[in-house]
Amino acid sequence: DSFKTLRVDNWLCKNLQAVGITKPTWIQSDTLLHTMSGKNIIGCAQTGSGKTACFALPILQKLAVDPYGVFGLVLTPTRELAFQIMEQFKVFAGNNMNLRISVIVGGVDIMKQATELAEIPHIIIATPGRFVHHLQNDQCTLNQYLENLQFLVFDEADRMLTEDSFRPELEVILSALPKERQTLLFSATMVPDYDKLLSKELIYGTEQRG
Ligand code: AMP
Repeated sequence: DSFKTLRVDNWLCKNLQAVGITKPTWIQSDTLLHTMSGKNIIGCAQTGSGKTACFALPILQKLAVDPYGVFGLVLTPTRELAFQIMEQFKVFAGNNMNLRISVIVGGVDIMKQATELAEIPHIIIATPGRFVHHLQNDQCTLNQYLENLQFLVFDEADRMLTEDSFRPELEVILSALPKERQTLLFSATMVPDYDKLLSKELIYGTEQRG
């Protein structure tokens, strides 16, 4: 496989090449065709497998065509992971995109984050707790701009879905999102009964096609 045969656009392939990424990893080979064609996926992969590109590439590719509203929301369990994911998005996007990307995690000034959210970032990378805070103290029409959300990503979903503290937060977030969207779920270990923890419909929404 090459990124090209996996339907990754030329401009993205070039950005990947520029940082020495030329051959897809197995998880990228397994998932990119499905995600590029609008499918929901559950990917079982550890950090280091190249899983960030599995969700970042389809989001960037579709965002480049129709950049309206908050386009993608990535939920991740820790602030460190959130910043690492942002760095990868920036590398893959290269310089030819005027990408607005916001990291919404604890330990960072809330007012500064609210200002950033008011500018309608294309991509939000968030830990659940802090994102819920902004949803519930919405002075910047965040809820309104989420109506157009195209992609929801769960990074390290097993950690978020199995930890009691995250579940009520995920419920608040999921009920604020449109049902028609693409949901990409990545987990280091396979936890088959996600729907016992949260309803399947809540987690996955309605898959978009095309
Ligand atoms: P991740 O598992 O997504 O955290 O990725 C780990 C590292 O591998 C990151 O620095 C990526 O930029 C890099 N990477 C992602 N895909 C590839 C690839 N196909 N070939 C080489 N390195 C990659």
